[in-house]
Amino acid sequence: MKENREGILVVISGFAGTGKGTLVKGLLSEYDDYALSVSMTTRKPRPGEEDGVSYFFVSREEFEKTIAQDGLVEYASYCDNYYGTPKAYVEEQLKAGKDVILEIEIQGALKIRRIYPSALLLFVMPPGAEELRNRLVGRGTETPEVIKQRMDRAAKEAEGIEEYDYIVVNDQIGACIRKTHEIIEAAHAKPFRNEKFIQTVREDLRRMSEE
Ligand code: 5GP
Repeated sequence: MKENREGILVVISGFAGTGKGTLVKGLLSEYDDYALSVSMTTRKPRPGEEDGVSYFFVSREEFEKTIAQDGLVEYASYCDNYYGTPKAYVEEQLKAGKDVILEIEIQGALKIRRIYPSALLLFVMPPGAEELRNRLVGRGTETPEVIKQRMDRAAKEAEGIEEYDYIVVNDQIGACIRKTHEIIEAAHAKPFRNEKFIQTVREDLRRMSEE
């Protein structure tokens, strides 16, 4: 069954500081089912970021050309830069039966929902607001103003959580990776994703009862 199934487009969003990056890395390293979509951006690479791994870093001109050629599934402008999901890779991997992970923010997630109604939208949450603040403070790299800014942004993003199919609470990362994988597996078991199989069994049953 597994080799014949079509891949699911899995969108993973969540507040900064909830460990969604670690969750995505865990899914990719622990299971063979997943492919990570690398976004295209006009933002300059940060130290340590590699072209084609973190992002495809392109010029504004190249990005706009890709939009004109209908080469992106969705794109958004964020802090004066474009970010978008390349279409070819997503479609190719879905056809190959891989579940394609998009780690994008909520606006992009809602666009994906409109374009691919069968996409699975997951929102990663901390066990509580207090833990989120502790994690942001605990990093020790952010000023109190930046922490406040991120907490404000989390409060705003929290308004859209009901648009998602499932929340995943990241209390303990190993358990969170397993739980996320289980949710995706359960999504594969939905009847609308198994129409061909159901149809075959149904027709065989009908034929047998007529014999
Ligand atoms: P950063 O510059 O920090 O890497 O990313 C900024 C924001 O853009 C993050 O919230 C990230 O999730 C979002 N983002 C990254 N790639 C994409 C994409 O392809 N589409 C959309 N809509 N957002 C993206």
